[in-house]
Amino acid sequence: MLNQRPICKTCNKNHAAINYKRDGVTHYRSICDECGRKKQKQKPHKANWTKSGYKKKATCDLCGFKSLFVTQITVFHIDGNLEHIEHTNLRSICLNCVEVVKKKEVTWRRGDLQIAY
Ligand SMILES: [Zn+2]
Ligand SMILES: [Zn+2]
Repeated sequence: MLNQRPICKTCNKNHAAINYKRDGVTHYRSICDECGRKKQKQKPHKANWTKSGYKKKATCDLCGFKSLFVTQITVFHIDGNLEHIEHTNLRSICLNCVEVVKKKEVTWRRGDLQIAY
């Protein structure tokens, strides 16, 4: 029996790319080669708050921890809305405090979460 080659889910135009063949059966990806390449080229998602001109602080807004590396600090939106990029809605939080925030502050949301493709 022939395994039908699906149409790309992204462009609805091209045939889906071949994923692998096993036991004489061809398995396909859900998207075509073209869209697969485009996907890879996509720039990493930039956090919304960067548009507001907000600069991530080197010290934690909660405990005053001085970071050596920017990755030690995470920007949070305290009302939980990633669209609200007013500086008053943003806090620079160290990784230590992130754990506290996650348990205590129900509305706070990380502003730099990557979009899962
Ligand atoms: Zn496609
Ligand atoms: Zn802290």
